[in-house]
Amino acid sequence: MQQKIALITGANKGIGLETARQLAAQGVQVIVGSRDAERGRAAADALKAQGLPATSLTMDVADAGSIEAAAREIESRHGRLDILINNAGVMHDAMDQPPSAQSIDTWRKTFETNVFGLVAVTQAMLPLLRKSAAGRIVNVSSRLGSITDQSDPASPYYPFKVPAYNVSKTAVNSWTVQLAYELRDTGIKVNAIHPGHVKTDMGGASASMEVGDGARTSVELALIADDGPTGGFFHLGDRLPW
Ligand code: NAP
Repeated sequence: MQQKIALITGANKGIGLETARQLAAQGVQVIVGSRDAERGRAAADALKAQGLPATSLTMDVADAGSIEAAAREIESRHGRLDILINNAGVMHDAMDQPPSAQSIDTWRKTFETNVFGLVAVTQAMLPLLRKSAAGRIVNVSSRLGSITDQSDPASPYYPFKVPAYNVSKTAVNSWTVQLAYELRDTGIKVNAIHPGHVKTDMGGASASMEVGDGARTSVELALIADDGPTGGFFHLGDRLPW
């Protein structure tokens, strides 16, 4: 069987790096996406030092030229892409401010990476994914983007109003449904995932999950079989409400 090729964006640290490590441990050739060349190289070198198949690729998902160059580089290195994990993400909301007071600059910066960047990377990589026998796209979203949870006073997620971030993830969820519909008659599957509340720079030290478990849902959806789901939202095997 041909070795699978996976690109993980924002994989120089956190859930992205652990996702790369777990995929590589399953024999997938991983491409560690990083907006900083040196940090990306260091992350890939750390994986290689563990005997894992990894290379790095410089890519800022908020920079169109950088995305195009990355797609050309993958084309010349591998000629195709089997797995795209849109993992890069930011949270810029001011935690001491209510939803109505978040600045438009915060909204723009958040959407630039979490939404426009994710869509732009997907558009650039789709021609390479179409060359795969079984392309998989995993959009790393958040349960904070679930409108069902955000509007339900009984939900544990209800009080967490981080509006620019939450709405960006709602957009990621909706985009997942749009793209899955377009690709429904191809072999490419597109799903959104919630990693859990994970101990990373973004999740904070008091988060409930270790990074090893935080990467599990991305890895699972990256490796789903041909009869697996598409157009869904998942966490550790459970289907989540939109
Ligand atoms: P993290 O430790 O802060 O890592 C975020 C990664 O995204 C870093 O590698 C960062 O690169 C990269 N990134 C940010 N902007 C980028 C850009 N423009 N281009 C390329 N890379 C960029 O956060 P994490 O917790 O691992 O989060 C990973 C994903 O999980 C995110 O999408 C996040 O929203 C989601 N998530 C996390 C949690 C949680 O509890 N941790 C919960 C739900 C969802 P730099 O190192 O260069 O900044």
